[in-house]
Parts: sequence; C-alpha cells; structure tokens
Amino acid sequence: MSFTVHGLPVSQGIAIGHTHLVSHALLEVNHYQIAPRHLKAELDRFDNAIASVDGELLGLKTAASAAQPHNEVGAFIDLQRMMLADPALIEAARTKIKEHHYNAEWALVQQMESVVEQFRQIEDAYLRERQADVVQVVERLVKALLGNPGRLPPKRKDGHGTIIVAHDLSPADTIGFKDHIAGFITDIGGPTSHTAIVARNLGIPAIVGLRHIRDLLRADELIIVDGTRGIAIVDPDKSIIEEYQLRRAALELERSKLRRLRDTPAATLGGEIIQLLANISGPQDMAKIKEINADGVGLFRTEFLFIDRDTLPDEDEQYEVYRSVLKAASGKPVTARTFDIGADKSLVGDTQDEPNPALGLRAVRYSLTEPKVFLAQLRALLRASAHGKLQIMIPMLVHADEIEQTLTLIEKAKEELREEKIKFDENLPVGGMVEVPAAALALGMFVRRLDFLSIGTNDLIQYTLAVDRGNEAVVRLYDPLHPAVLKLISGTIQTAQRAELPVSVCGEMAGNPAYTWLLLGMGLRSFSMHPARILEIKRQILRADLAEITPKTQRILKLDEPARIHEAVEKLGA
Ligand code: PEP
Ligand code: MG
Repeated sequence: MSFTVHGLPVSQGIAIGHTHLVSHALLEVNHYQIAPRHLKAELDRFDNAIASVDGELLGLKTAASAAQPHNEVGAFIDLQRMMLADPALIEAARTKIKEHHYNAEWALVQQMESVVEQFRQIEDAYLRERQADVVQVVERLVKALLGNPGRLPPKRKDGHGTIIVAHDLSPADTIGFKDHIAGFITDIGGPTSHTAIVARNLGIPAIVGLRHIRDLLRADELIIVDGTRGIAIVDPDKSIIEEYQLRRAALELERSKLRRLRDTPAATLGGEIIQLLANISGPQDMAKIKEINADGVGLFRTEFLFIDRDTLPDEDEQYEVYRSVLKAASGKPVTARTFDIGADKSLVGDTQDEPNPALGLRAVRYSLTEPKVFLAQLRALLRASAHGKLQIMIPMLVHADEIEQTLTLIEKAKEELREEKIKFDENLPVGGMVEVPAAALALGMFVRRLDFLSIGTNDLIQYTLAVDRGNEAVVRLYDPLHPAVLKLISGTIQTAQRAELPVSVCGEMAGNPAYTWLLLGMGLRSFSMHPARILEIKRQILRADLAEITPKTQRILKLDEPARIHEAVEKLGA
C-alpha cells in the first residue's frame, strides 16, 4: 500500500530506489557480569575493539579523501577517532568493566547514555547534535565487540538505486555507502546533523527527522525520496514514479545550468553589483568557496573550533586556523566572528548550568566574562590579519559597553603585539552582529562605534518572535516575514546606509531565493550564506530589476497583515 511521510528536507534532489534498513546495533546489547578471573580478557577484548574501529575509520577516511580531497568527511571521521580516546567515554567505560565487572558492550552503552545526557543539556543546536557522533562511535564499537561489522547493501541491477533507511547514520557510514546509494532517510537528526552536512556535500538527497520511519518500512520496498520538499513516498504507483523521474531530470539540468554561473558577476539587470559571501565553520569549507567563486567569507563561525574537544585551542592553534582560512581566501575579505558559544556548556570542565541559556551567558557576554580566553582569540585573529583581508565581528551585541569593552581588549592585544614586534593589520575593521531586537531598535550607538554591521536573521527572528529556533514544537511560529521582523531588518539596512556603514545579512534568509528580491528591495547589497546556495541566489540577482522591486518592497513594508505580506512577497519573487 502506498503512503507518504513528511520530514525535514536537508539535502536537495530526488532519489528513487529500494530500501535498505541499517540495523541499530545498540538494541542488541546484553548485560552480564564478568567473573574476576576473566576481567583481563574482557579488557583486552575492549581494547581490541577500539583498535579495530580506529583502523576501520582510518580506512574510510583514506577512501573519502581519495574520492574527494577537500570534503568535510575527513574532519568528521577525525572527530569520531578522537572520541575513541576520550576519557569521558572510553576510560569511564573501562572503569565500569574493572569496578562493576560489566561486560564491555554494556559498560560502553551505559557510559554513552550518561555522555549523551550531558550533550542534551547543551543549548547550541550544532553542539547538541554532536551527541549523534558519540552514539555512532559506540555503535561501531558494539558491532566490533559483537563481531558484526557493518555490511554494504548489494548493487541493484534494475536501474533503481538504494535508499538507506536508518535510525541515524554516522558520516563514516554515509561515506562508506556512497558509491551506490541514491538517498538517505533517518528517524532523527536536524539540518546541522553530520549526516545532513555530509549528504549535502556528496549531493545525495536526504530527509531526516522522519521519527519512526525505520520501524514502518520493510527491506527492499520501493521508495521516492524528495529531499527538496522533505517527502518520502513509499510503494509509489507507476505514474508517480514517472512524474518524479521527469522532475529529477529537470533538477539535474537546473544544477548544470547553475554551475555555468560561477564566473558571471552578480549584477542586477541595471548593472548594480551585489556582494555574495559564504558562511564557513573552518578551513575545510574553503575549497567549496573556490569551486563556486564566492566574493569572500561573510561569517566564519569560529566557535566551531571548540566543538568536540576537551581542551581549548590556544592562541597558536587558533592563529594557524585563521591564517589558513585567510591564505585560502587569496586576498578576498574574511569576516571572523568571535566565539558565539551558548552559555558555557560547550567548554569542557565548566559545568555551570543556566535556566535559560538563550538569554544567558552567550556569545560576547560569555567572552567578556572570560577575558583571558577572549584575549587569546583576539591576539590570534590580529596575528592572522597580517596574512589577508580580515575583519572581526562581535556576536549578540545589546549594550554599548559590550562594544567598548571588546574594543579595549582589541587595543590591549594590539599593544602587546606591537611590543612583541609581531605584525598585524593596524586598521582591521571591527563590526557587530545585529541579531537582537534591541540592537536593531537602538542602532545609533552601534553605528557610532563600529565599522560594519551584519544582520543575523536566525537569532533576530528567534528573539523578536520569542520562538526558540531549535524547537520543533514551535517551528510553525518562526516566520521570517512577520511584519515586526521585516521592520527591524529594513530599518537596520536604512540606518546603516545613511551612516555609510557596510551592512550585510548572514542569517539563513540571505540564502533563501524566496527572499532575495525582498532583501534587494530593502536596499541590501551584500549577502552571506551557506556556500551551496550562492549560485542560486546569484541567479535571482541576475534577473532582478531594482527599479521595479524597490518601490514594490516599500509598499510591502507598509503592510501589517501576515497573509497579504506572504502573498506580496511571493509575487515579488516570481
Ligand atoms: C544568525 O543568528 O542569524 C547567525 C548568522 O548566527 P548563528 O546562526 O550562528 O547564531
Ligand atoms: Mg546568531
């Protein structure tokens, strides 16, 4: 019987294929006590499993980088290899074997649950999703302990591909499967889960968050995965398959057309050049930027350096990372945002809990309470500024004194470097993010103190509408076109322009083609987004007639009836 299920679309495209169910090793774990005389053998079994999984991961990494030298998969696999040496997981499990005489599988799964619980408390969605890596590493270890290494699905001969159906998938599994895989669907995961990122990187359609799909499906069922709309159609009839085959061909044609825009300047019909920048999380993203020829980096989320590690990166380590990003940018501008860590939970060893972390010690607030950490980052950034065109951006500004304290620390860092005779860019611009309504409404104090602004629509929407951006239960209320949000964005752009201060948008709105003309009509001339979106946005710009769009947008900004705004924006972008 045919049926349709809806989930989160995380990697665009259409796949048609037969299901392959990936088993969930953790369900197979038993609990038994180890007799004292067998403890040593149990510990050896545990160590052998770790060595074997490490070898497995290393093999996958080599295969991945041979297939695609600059992809992100290598970094993800390294992360999982690091977990194999993580005391919070491995040593603690070993202690459980030694002290409680648990069998190795049980000790591991018990410890995994306690580590995962700690991850669950983290406010930052990206960091929270790293719990999936812990689970995936433990799954591999359990498989190794049970002598049951993962098996690849066989290649199909009937022309249809294979669709992997799993509760969750690791990036290593994803890359291991990739040769004859048409698509992925999983029960859990969000848009920033590793599987989603890897699937996007590999260009394989994927849907996550389908809840109980793994239990609903049987092996070898025919299924269509529409990764653009987040729909999976199980057991489709012939006419539906034909329709999707046509759609898939049209999408492929579309992609190859987009690739041809790589070297076309992003100019509107009237010849106005628009800046198209990329959001990155580290040096590994720079290859993609070259591939699509972006104008530079509009948002480098430096807090990603903190992820999944138990020591803070010191100044030298940070300097190397920043320098390598600047080198790869080959003279194009790079805007590095200082650490935007949610509360303090992403820092190992710091266990303070906050009742409401989104409104707590986050971003610049956190940095200012840890001046040593902040100063090390500022020194590293300044040192790197000698190797390219760097700008520093401060996240989540609300108060003027947050800027002043940051500027004082930057001055202190400069003073130290001068004394140490270390080169840096004396005129390095310092800007701020407008992502809290208070900042947008009282922009004068920011404009007077900063060199540029960037609007973070992700948080601006969350804080304006009081809707948690990571909470599925209120996702329907998260409306970028809410009149209050539009007023704050357009007001910020206008004020910045009057003050002749460069302004860009670096939230998800900038990478959504449905909003490109609206933002152009508000006067925006600089967009920063996920690199994969840049060519699509460029196409929208090439078709844009500012003389027509601008007055229409001004009329939209006067509306305050949501349905009419949605309708007018849809018409504007057609
Ligand atoms: C934003 O809030 O729009 C933004 C770009 O920052 P982040 O998504 O990292 O919070
Ligand atoms: Mg933000």
